[in-house]
Amino acid sequence: MDAKYFKNSYCREIVHGNYTLIIAHDSGTYINLRSSIWNNIQYYMENNIKIDKKYEDIIRVLLEYGIIYQTCKGNLVYKSIMLQLTSACNLHCIHCCAQMISSKGIVTMEIINKVINLNPQLLILTGGEPMMHPQFWSIAKYIRKHFRNELRLMTNATLITEKNIGDLCSYFDSVDISMDGKNNEDTSRIRGGGVYEHAINAIHLLKKYDKKVTVSAVVECFTEDFANQFDELAFSLGVDTILRELDIVDEVMKNFDDIVVGGKNIILRIK
Ligand code: SF4
Repeated sequence: MDAKYFKNSYCREIVHGNYTLIIAHDSGTYINLRSSIWNNIQYYMENNIKIDKKYEDIIRVLLEYGIIYQTCKGNLVYKSIMLQLTSACNLHCIHCCAQMISSKGIVTMEIINKVINLNPQLLILTGGEPMMHPQFWSIAKYIRKHFRNELRLMTNATLITEKNIGDLCSYFDSVDISMDGKNNEDTSRIRGGGVYEHAINAIHLLKKYDKKVTVSAVVECFTEDFANQFDELAFSLGVDTILRELDIVDEVMKNFDDIVVGGKNIILRIK
């Protein structure tokens, strides 16, 4: 049976010139492709047409980056699933859209079991702030017991402490910490005072346990030299960086001039 391909529904695209930056919002991986090639590949996928052999190498990379999925013997192989435990959060980031794009309330055990049964290669627990879920620790323990693949926590890191780091590291294979800044000043502007320090402390604690750690930023926070400086910070901490695209909803747009230093003119230039 020929493989069938599907676009990851978490993918966001930014067209710039003749190219499209495709970001897998769940894993934070991204690729820059000539728009004509990406449009052709999407056309093949959407119309269930066998993909031209000349795109073989690109398809392999898109699969590896989780930009697309493929069926295997008729079953869909899920590269990753993001499970939002709660929309509640203890921060008030100026670019936050969690309350607007997510369902209200907290996740149920029925949904958790359904996701475990889908058996994705990567399962990401997110929020709001996932650690705010009243049963966070029992859920993490339960998933770890029943789920064998990579389990990742996506967190603002403010609730990670010396006391709970042992349990956290026994349940999760990797942790992604949202920073949105290359230094205290940047992160404080977007996420509030004290958050940068929490994030750095949490990274040091996680590294003591040899955990795989990434730090993330929304792509709209990027100005020309931001990327290099963010990479330098990550390198000095011994972690990797990932990108996410900002969800452009009305409430977020109200704060746009504060999110992107230089305001809308800068982001229009990037796009
Ligand atoms: S940590 Fe995440 S969910 Fe919480 S306010 Fe910030 S962006 Fe929103």
